[in-house]
Amino acid sequence: MPLVLGLEFSGIVTEIGTGVTNVKVGDRVAVEPILYCGHCEFCLRGDYNLCKYTNAGFIGLSDDGGFAEYVVTDVFRVHKLPDNLTLEEGALVEPTAVAIHAVRKSGLRVGQTSAIFGAGPIDWLTNTPCCKKSRCYRNICCRCFP
Ligand SMILES: [Zn+2]
Repeated sequence: MPLVLGLEFSGIVTEIGTGVTNVKVGDRVAVEPILYCGHCEFCLRGDYNLCKYTNAGFIGLSDDGGFAEYVVTDVFRVHKLPDNLTLEEGALVEPTAVAIHAVRKSGLRVGQTSAIFGAGPIDWLTNTPCCKKSRCYRNICCRCFP
């Protein structure tokens, strides 16, 4: 079944549901695209990427996404953007978070060499700003072409 793509995106809130208090109409928000239930044991301990009910689906890949004119999503997936971030920068919040998480999980220390396999947006975000911040000695970015 066709769907509207758009995995990494931000937008402006145009309508809110009953009981929503963390955002209001007009707020600029980034949307966390990973689909999770929020109630299973993995979600409750913060490991929602391991949710046992959603199988790591994503808005924009397994459900309609950010290229749609409007997106309806759960309030826990919406994060208000600070005033100093543009909507374009807001669309980079999720891939940047993935990159930072990868660098932290790697145990990379100042002066070490890093190798990034891939040359997509997350790979670039991992290789460039994250490694510059941790002051790696060398960064190697590899991409395989079929
Ligand atoms: Zn879950």
